[in-house]
Amino acid sequence: MKPPTWWAAPLYLWALPNALIGLLILLYAKPHGVNWHSGALVIKVKRIPGGRWVLGQTHGFVVLVKEGTASLLVHEFVHVKQQLVLGLLFYLMYGVQ
Ligand SMILES: [Zn+2]
Repeated sequence: MKPPTWWAAPLYLWALPNALIGLLILLYAKPHGVNWHSGALVIKVKRIPGGRWVLGQTHGFVVLVKEGTASLLVHEFVHVKQQLVLGLLFYLMYGVQ
């Protein structure tokens, strides 16, 4: 994914509610590092809701990861794309799976 450009701004706005959920989770997640990577805000955290086997979680363009391994980021960046398109509907789709 490329960094956001002006034409992607509406998608980032559309996914903003999701991103805010991700930022709210930071209150629990104990963040300890952040960088902008491939159009997403990648935040290293110590805890992720859902159990200790959960290594990564994406909310909008906010990606929470315990380890920044390439394969995990590739996986999470797919969820970023999905949420830029689906917005809050992503949670419905994800819940149905
Ligand atoms: Zn996934």
